[in-house]
Amino acid sequence: MKNIIFIAPPAAGKGTHAKLLAEKYNIPHISTGDLLREEAAKSTDLGLKIKNIMKIGALVSDDVITELLKNRLVKDDCDNGYILDGYPRSLEQAFLYEKLLDSINKELGVVIFLDISKELAMKRALSRLVCSNCGSSYNLIVEELKPKKENICDKCGIELKVRNDDNEKTFINRYETYVEKTHSLIDYYKEKGVLEVVRIEEQMSALEIFSKIEEIVNND
Ligand code: AMP
Repeated sequence: MKNIIFIAPPAAGKGTHAKLLAEKYNIPHISTGDLLREEAAKSTDLGLKIKNIMKIGALVSDDVITELLKNRLVKDDCDNGYILDGYPRSLEQAFLYEKLLDSINKELGVVIFLDISKELAMKRALSRLVCSNCGSSYNLIVEELKPKKENICDKCGIELKVRNDDNEKTFINRYETYVEKTHSLIDYYKEKGVLEVVRIEEQMSALEIFSKIEEIVNND
């Protein structure tokens, strides 16, 4: 299976769809946000530094993130393909990633861009809840993503929380960072001939979006 990269503004649903694909095709879902949140939970100097950067919605340094990613991609479970969610997030990271791929003998694969308006992404960010135990993400305005029991994780039975960067102010910063740094990746990957686009409209169900993503993966 080809390696897959998801590019999207914050709260477009890349984590949710990456997770669904990973379960269906039995390949790892590697979220750099999750790798960083794990690191930030440690009370090390690096952990604290990462926590403070994430709190304001800025980007963690390329060296730190690329090193964390390299350590993850060399694991055996990445041998038959993997899904990257949240990386690369800038042209600099795209160049670093290609170097990294060369050094570990892996291919770029396919890049899926989830194209969503700022307004809809913000609405979704402000309705998102996560489980701090298993990392599952829920959304109160997406029918299939609502928890079965109000405010409780379907899997762990514990209370759901709002991610501390899912507030209006941080969302706006994250979105601006996306426009400034990540959006340029779209033209870059289009020129390379590896870009596929899924346009997300408000009335689309998560299932509808996922079947479009699956079509791309199966055709590739
Ligand atoms: P996400 O879970 O993908 O929304 O990421 C949450 C936060 O983690 C971002 O706002 C950044 O602070 C940080 N982050 C995630 N991926 C990267 C990356 N590739 N480069 C730098 N910072 C990142």
